[in-house]
Formats: sequence, C-alpha cells, structure tokens
Amino acid sequence: MIITTEGIVLRQRKIANNRRMIVLFTKQYGKISAGTSVNEKSRSKAALALRPFTYADYDIFRGREAYSINSAQAKKSFYSIGEDIDRFMAASAFIEYLDKVLGEETPMPGLFDLALAFLESVSRSRSSAETLLFAFIVKSLRMLGVAPELSCCTGCGKSAESFGEGGFRSFSVTGGGIICPDCAEQEKTRPDSLIYQPSFDIITVFGYFDSRPLATFEKVDLKPDVAGVVRDILAEYTDRYLGIDVLRTSIGLEV
Ligand SMILES: [Zn+2]
Repeated sequence: MIITTEGIVLRQRKIANNRRMIVLFTKQYGKISAGTSVNEKSRSKAALALRPFTYADYDIFRGREAYSINSAQAKKSFYSIGEDIDRFMAASAFIEYLDKVLGEETPMPGLFDLALAFLESVSRSRSSAETLLFAFIVKSLRMLGVAPELSCCTGCGKSAESFGEGGFRSFSVTGGGIICPDCAEQEKTRPDSLIYQPSFDIITVFGYFDSRPLATFEKVDLKPDVAGVVRDILAEYTDRYLGIDVLRTSIGLEV
C-alpha cells in the first residue's frame, strides 16, 4: 500500500546496500522510520527532501514490516537555520526533543503544525532562537498531556488569585506546577523536592509562552537571568515528566 504524507526529517543513518534509514515526523502517521535508496547527494528535489530542516511530501510504500520511501518532493527548505549557530543549536535541540517525545506511528497533527511553525519562525528569527525553543516546548507540553499547573497550588489547590502580589512565585518541579508559600515550606523538607523561586512572575512568563502565537517570539529576547531560570525549570520539568533534557545537553553547555 502506498501512503502519501507531509513530513519533517528527524534523523537518518546509512544502512546496507547503499540505502538510508530516514526517521520522519509525518503529519498523518506520526513518527515513522523508512528506508530509501534515493541518493541524498544528488541535487534533485527528492534528495533535498531527505535533509534536515526540510518540509516535504513523501510517497511511502507500507509493507508488512517496514516503510520504504518511493519518492519525495521538498516543499520548503529552511536552509537559513544552518547558517547561524544560534538558530542551528535551537533547531537541533528541537529535532532531538521531537525524536524522543514522539511515539512510533502515533499521529500528532497539532504538534506537527506547531513544529512546522517553529521551523518557519526560527529560520527568520531576529532575536534569540532559544526563546522560540522555550515557547515551542511550553506549547508542546499541553499537547503531550503534561502541561504544568499554573492556576492553583499543586500542594493544597488554593487558587493563584487568592494570593497577593508575589505570593505565588514558586514553581515546584516535583509538584508539577506552582506552589503556595505554605506548601513550599513543607515540600522543602522532602529530600527530592525541586522548587524554584524566580525573581519574576513565572505564571505570566509561562502563560505568555502558552497563549501567544509562536511567531510572536521571533522578536522577543528574555533577560539573561530570566532565560537562565526558564531554561533550568524546563530542563528539569521535561526530564521529570518526559524523560528528556535537550536544553542542558544541547544548549546550556555550549556557545
Ligand atoms: Zn498550597
């Protein structure tokens, strides 16, 4: 059976007989691994469609046990990502994140559209590409069913509004969201507690990432100290709830 789908290349490797195994994030079928003998080094549109940071249409033969790419046609190449180290680092962490978070053959069309919007935005960003990566990750958490709790205390359930100015500045990674001062004091006594008390309003920052279109962040730069705390919280949070930490391994230690 032949299937046709849009997709993004997540990674590829050589296999036997001059063939390659391409891991694709497809819109209709989710993540799939497909073999191909299309020569990646040629200048054809099919070859371009096998490279990273390309959005393409694929005709894929679905056999009993394996997928095989028959033909491919690049729709858009976000080549400018490779020309800038900041964009490249953010986009590489994004690809690694998607590769780890997606289950095989589990369609996630909403996340696919968000991923495409990320590639569009990062390829033309005029500020830190890492801010776009933060926004992408925060938005993806809801789609993956692990959104942080930002409206009430994760310890006692008190609503965020019932606390005065500055009363809800703590974020508990272990609790999975914001935490009130009383519960924070209690939780700190637990050996595995992981609480951040940023000097800015974390509810507003995460809410901003969650609610604004991704393209908004093409022009947004966070202050370095804010970016540092957001990076730390998201790294710990994704590590705990998704088993993934692409922010420290790919970005935090480099540049
Ligand atoms: Zn509480």
